[in-house]
Amino acid sequence: MLHTISNELVEEALENECTHIVFEQLNGIRERLPHAKAVHKWAFHRLYEYVTYKAESDGLVVKQINPAYTSQRCSKCGFTHEDNRPHTNGQDEFGCLKCGYDVHADYNAAKNIGLKYLRDQQKSGRGGAPVGVRLNSGMMNVNGEYSPTVLHS
Ligand SMILES: [Zn+2]
Repeated sequence: MLHTISNELVEEALENECTHIVFEQLNGIRERLPHAKAVHKWAFHRLYEYVTYKAESDGLVVKQINPAYTSQRCSKCGFTHEDNRPHTNGQDEFGCLKCGYDVHADYNAAKNIGLKYLRDQQKSGRGGAPVGVRLNSGMMNVNGEYSPTVLHS
């Protein structure tokens, strides 16, 4: 199953002409998923290894970033608060107290992780920095703006 998932991740990145795949640092998994069993933590590490191996042989760059606040930050307006979740039914929902953005918590955190990496790279001023975060619905640039402008983000 991990092989299938990692293949799909890499294929999707290639299909969308991505240059990077960014993960949250795996030692953060313990805080984000405090009830995860040892086998789940093992699975995350394995998945990361498989993705790295496959992606790098296809010329993609795989990175990990510190996920601090990425689950509390609203990926739409930037408002960061520990009470931003969950305010609807279920634990998986992110809800921004400021702008009302309502979306799956993992999707919100993933957008923040991509954006954080993007901003870190641009700050460092190195050449070849990625230019946007690929979403299902389009592309998000370093300022958090979408192109094309989308209703569903
Ligand atoms: Zn918001």
